[in-house]
Amino acid sequence: MQTGEVFLKNLLERGVGVEQYSGKSILKKIAMGKIFYYEKKQTTVKREKIEDIEGEIARFTHAKEEAIIQLEQLYEKARAEVGETEAAVFEVHKMMIDDEDYTDSIYHIIRSQGMCAEYATAVTGDNFSSMFAAMDDEYMKARALDVKDITDRLVGILTGQQNDISELEEPVILVVDDLAPSETVQIDKSKLLGFVTRYGSSNSHTAILARTMNIPALMEVDIKKEWHGKAAVLDGYEGQILIEPDEETIVEAKKTLNEEQKREELLKQFKGQKTVTRDGRKIHLYANIGSVSDTAAALLNDAEGIGLFRSEFLYLESNDFPSEYEQYMAYKMVAENMAGKKVIIRTLDIGADKQVDYFQLDKEENPALGYRAIRICLTRKEIFKTQLRAILRASVHGEIAVMFPMIISVKELHMAKEIMREAEEELKKEGIAYRNIETGVMIETPAAVMISEELAKEVDFFSIGTNDLTQYTLAIDRQNPKLEAFYDAHHPAILEMIRITIENGHKGGAWVGICGELGADSELTETFFKMGVDELSVSPAFILPLRERIRSLSINE
Ligand code: PEP
Ligand code: MG
Repeated sequence: MQTGEVFLKNLLERGVGVEQYSGKSILKKIAMGKIFYYEKKQTTVKREKIEDIEGEIARFTHAKEEAIIQLEQLYEKARAEVGETEAAVFEVHKMMIDDEDYTDSIYHIIRSQGMCAEYATAVTGDNFSSMFAAMDDEYMKARALDVKDITDRLVGILTGQQNDISELEEPVILVVDDLAPSETVQIDKSKLLGFVTRYGSSNSHTAILARTMNIPALMEVDIKKEWHGKAAVLDGYEGQILIEPDEETIVEAKKTLNEEQKREELLKQFKGQKTVTRDGRKIHLYANIGSVSDTAAALLNDAEGIGLFRSEFLYLESNDFPSEYEQYMAYKMVAENMAGKKVIIRTLDIGADKQVDYFQLDKEENPALGYRAIRICLTRKEIFKTQLRAILRASVHGEIAVMFPMIISVKELHMAKEIMREAEEELKKEGIAYRNIETGVMIETPAAVMISEELAKEVDFFSIGTNDLTQYTLAIDRQNPKLEAFYDAHHPAILEMIRITIENGHKGGAWVGICGELGADSELTETFFKMGVDELSVSPAFILPLRERIRSLSINE
């Protein structure tokens, strides 16, 4: 049981009657301390007519210049404190402030309606953020807050009423309606135990920053002004804030904090260390992610890249097919967050257990053996091509690679590559930049293992999906809880499949990684090394324990 679970279980068993409120947790961690309720100044924007149109335009232009200087300073501060990747949000804000559609709308309101610059900016900001907020895609929705942030900054400069949340006097749990990324980064981290907001989304940059800074936070909480100055426990495991906890609760929270600290300290020593065995054998240790915001956990745990980006989350979270632009933005964001480290995007893998209504897939007798993954992509080419175009477009923003799931034949691989070539041709014709990216296949079926030498000649890399490989090799539905006892991932047949795949991959000139759950199994790490695996991609939380394990191994002795 997790330490936080123990904490809450004990609390509940004692029937402690503390006031508690729920919210969306951003990080599984505990914070304990005094609440600081910050009431943001509501910048009042008057709908004022002006005479001197050109003077007003100049006033806006100055405010824009001032905002850009502030954002540059914030970028430098963030870069020094949380790193280049997280600082990138301020570069994005700088670009947004300079966005032609945004500024044109402001100029248009000033000129056509003769309104003051702050009014024109506030109206434009409202329109743009409502537009983002109305989008189905969670990632795009979260951009509404970025628009609000840049608009508040501009309006604050124009009216001389900027909020300043940066100076906290003692370590506190900050409670505030919303927290912009720029505000989050300005706060002295040694004074910020955690924060709780009324608004916000787990995909927002603020949430990403919180995770990266390892600060527990709750969003969408019914916060109260009366909490100011009261003691509280923020329970990130259960997504709750407990106000004025009794002594026993505090003792439990302290115990949990202690355990967390010990655990973190122990693993921290492996951050920044090479993933290398005692006798000098190196391996790439990458993270598996399922969303843009997961990159924070990958970075926090010092992943050397992303070995599996399960791109289907974009489809699962939407009510309709995500557009090329929406996908491009998501892939670009991950690539930029990873700042030059490899990002392997696995193309759409829906079907079987991952059903999406708007695909209108028929009900099947055997969904795991059915119409899924690459089979859908090759028969519904437009969906596939939209995704490939988005991936290619994002490739100029980082070190992106692509891999195809559930491949069972060279012919399928040829078809997938052909559609990719078509996507490249289209982009070339349209004058849209892209890079030649590494291409790989997932080895998830016995068929793929058996033809792996042929497949390897066609690709740059393999990534072994041991979850499905086990399912298809042992003929065991991975979704069926009754079969768990039979699902033996250490079965010699599986290990032999992995060995063959690595050997054949190398023969055919491809590097070989493992991205299924077995990759994180430390009992097999030595075996995988002996087989010659080049990369392991695991959930972010497993990276440091695995690096610890690898650094203790000596393969050739
Ligand atoms: C796998 O099958 O091992 C894999 C990594 O893919 P998924 O778990 O998403 O099917
Ligand atoms: Mg799979």
